[in-house]
Amino acid sequence: MTLAEAEFDRAIGGSLEGKRIDDGDARVLIRAGGDRLRALLRAAAAVRDSARRRTITYSRKVFLPLTNLCRDFCGYCTFRRSPGEPGAKTMTPDDVMHIVREGERLDCKEALFSLGDKPELAFAEMRTTLARFGHTTTIAYLRRMCEMVLENSTLLPHTNPGVMTEEDLVSLREVSASMGIMLESASPRLLERGGPHHGAPDKDPRLRLRTIDAAGRLQIPFTTGILIGIGETLDERIDALIELRKLHDRYGHIQEIIIQNFRAKPDIRMRNQVEPGLADLARTAAVARLLFGGAMNIQAPPNLALDFADSNPVPSADADAWSPLRVLLDAGINDWGGISPLTVDHINPERPWPHIDRLRDQMRRYGYELCERLAVYPEFLDKPGFLADAPAAQIKTHHAAFIQKTTHQTTYQREIG
Ligand code: SF4
Repeated sequence: MTLAEAEFDRAIGGSLEGKRIDDGDARVLIRAGGDRLRALLRAAAAVRDSARRRTITYSRKVFLPLTNLCRDFCGYCTFRRSPGEPGAKTMTPDDVMHIVREGERLDCKEALFSLGDKPELAFAEMRTTLARFGHTTTIAYLRRMCEMVLENSTLLPHTNPGVMTEEDLVSLREVSASMGIMLESASPRLLERGGPHHGAPDKDPRLRLRTIDAAGRLQIPFTTGILIGIGETLDERIDALIELRKLHDRYGHIQEIIIQNFRAKPDIRMRNQVEPGLADLARTAAVARLLFGGAMNIQAPPNLALDFADSNPVPSADADAWSPLRVLLDAGINDWGGISPLTVDHINPERPWPHIDRLRDQMRRYGYELCERLAVYPEFLDKPGFLADAPAAQIKTHHAAFIQKTTHQTTYQREIG
């Protein structure tokens, strides 16, 4: 047995005994292939199962792209627009309420606000639009829209407006059930000329980590994660997960770690970048599971994995084992994120979400149970200090029965929260 093989076996053995792997272990495991990849995925699934059994959650949501104007230029983005470009749009309050009403009709419970970063700093047109609505910043307009949703619907706002100051977080936490920002990467190298984040000052990892740190101090249930395959090295990928783990260990505020895979599109700067395959995605999710342990929610968006064409990383006689969704489930994830029966994924509009009932049936065949959750995870619902009054009142008024109905599936999450 080589030294690397011995290190691999020791790391896997430790995680099966309930220990979280360390930084060095993660750097060995992320390079697993063949039989060792299979062992890694099995260990991650066992750690997930011991803490959470085989219940996999999702949030039934509407996606509200409040504005697609953005001051940044990321090499993989098809969402952003400059003013005057075809498709450039800032939603009016009526636009927001129209979708929220439709979402209520379809039993959605989350209003996900995802938008471009600080467009008013770059565009006079955005400043004029905001003035028309009575605001000077996009964050202030977003806050008002969340308030409007809380006052006039049953939905729970989840806000995702990019880099936020402490003041922004303080103001938005009052009207948000949960908030988030993807770290994407911890590597400042990706900001260099030719890199995916060149021209995107808000993708500086130091700023994003500062936002996640402030969210921890403010006790905000927070969603974050990494974007893989944008030019980072495997070690840089681990660096990002380690930074997030440090913040979560300090504050206990991260409610999910998203492992999102880059998908190439014909109209992006990175159209020729090779996409990460299913094996790469699965082993990254598995390493995240072992780094964070069974208590963390590890998420992979199902619509970004449905059509993987690379060879099966876990060969099996069972034909179903080849399903990309099954491979991710068997890699230790426990959440699919938001799935909408109404709106498209505006960040990846070419990739429809799976139909929820069909997903449930498919998962049953694989031995997993699909369970709906709110935007804020069950373990944060009664964690002291973590929910502001308005979202807490919304949950109590409109979702108490839902929580009770799903408790039998999620009780174990509260026990370990
Ligand atoms: S990924 Fe986000 S920050 Fe980057 S250009 Fe697109 S909207 Fe702007």
